[in-house]
Amino acid sequence: MTPTRETFGNISTSSQVVFYVVAVASMAVFGYGIWRRFRLWRQGQSISLKQLATGTVSQIATKIGPGLRRLLVDGLGQQRVRGRGLPSWAHGLMFAGFMMLFLGTTLLEINHLAEMVSKNLGFHHGLYYIIYELTLDLFGLLFIVGTSLFFARRLWKPPSVGHRGTDWLVLILFLAIGITGYFVEALRIVWQQPTGIGAQCSPVGLWLSSAFRGWTEGQARAAHLTVWWVHALLVFGFIAAIPFTRLFHLIAGPINLFLSKTVLGQLKPITLEEAERDGRIGVSDIRHLTSQQLVSLDACMECGRCEDVCPAFATQKPLSPKRVIQDLKGVMEHLADATPDTPLSPHDVIKPETLWSCTACSACVFVCPVRIDQLTLILDMRRHLTSEGGLSGTAATALRRMQSSANPWGFPQSERANWVPESTSPPPN
Ligand code: SF4
Ligand code: SF4
Repeated sequence: MTPTRETFGNISTSSQVVFYVVAVASMAVFGYGIWRRFRLWRQGQSISLKQLATGTVSQIATKIGPGLRRLLVDGLGQQRVRGRGLPSWAHGLMFAGFMMLFLGTTLLEINHLAEMVSKNLGFHHGLYYIIYELTLDLFGLLFIVGTSLFFARRLWKPPSVGHRGTDWLVLILFLAIGITGYFVEALRIVWQQPTGIGAQCSPVGLWLSSAFRGWTEGQARAAHLTVWWVHALLVFGFIAAIPFTRLFHLIAGPINLFLSKTVLGQLKPITLEEAERDGRIGVSDIRHLTSQQLVSLDACMECGRCEDVCPAFATQKPLSPKRVIQDLKGVMEHLADATPDTPLSPHDVIKPETLWSCTACSACVFVCPVRIDQLTLILDMRRHLTSEGGLSGTAATALRRMQSSANPWGFPQSERANWVPESTSPPPN
């Protein structure tokens, strides 16, 4: 017998209809959440997406090539996530498991739609079925292991990682989806009684099915239907929750990877004409950020990598690049229901001391997994402070001394050659 299984085996037609109604409802909530954020992003400075899609095929390829490469290398390849021990392993396993389960579910639905057109179009059988079932069975395990590692990490509570109640809900949801998925498989094996390779290709499900040894087909079918519904509702809950939790980095992260600049941490020169046209220098309102910069605020998953490497933070200066991003995100969220009196200046929440504490070392920029450019954001806000005469602290003193003595320490010109030992011959003219 050819190894296979029905897509909606043991699920009645009426249950399938309800399934699709709930699926559409969860997609609607997901779409609404994305649209809410999109409305915020649109209020930034235009980034002319149309320009990316104009020109000859080779011109378009040249323009979008770097973005696609970043999606492949930093997104799918997780290049910037690797090399940090437990968190890297946890994210890598969870990401690999998630992507494979997502791909598997999509293929299953495509097979179902194809079979609705004609039974001959179905492909979920034979060798494909064996590889499919084996792959998903193993990647499901990776997903559960990755999620459990994140659980352990949250219990340990590293101070640089953001902690919110919804993070626990998301992890519990992930674990529940993974575990109920295996129970659905095990109970299906109990009532379907596949034999040979058709059963062996789901080793985890087969092993779990031994817990239900002795159950009648009727009992197994009833339990399968119940757990299948629980599993489906959990998945729909997950889809609906994406735009409203930290999971939103699944959407904003890839968009930011695609749109971000090739070189980060570089201050763009401003011409006099631009300053006159805009009536400002730097960033004094959240809407002065580009739409891509607003997307980047939503891409932050508060992993704390930038804070861990920031020399200013390490030396107890009042600066955490992660906090700066979160504060800017908080101001961006005011755009949703802004009135003329709504404070939209980042300077209302980010103090000058914070901005002047940055040494512009770029360490944060290099480690951020989703290529958020914390440094440019900080420098653009500093530009505004400088243009308003708000330069203070050591930076102001150094600049004043540069102006008066041509060196940042304020040494008089008469002492310029003091460091040269008297015995040293003067350099030839
Ligand atoms: S560039 Fe600034 S914020 Fe980033 S790590 Fe260096 S000092 Fe910290
Ligand atoms: S800005 Fe980047 S590195 Fe920093 S917490 Fe957010 S995602 Fe992590």
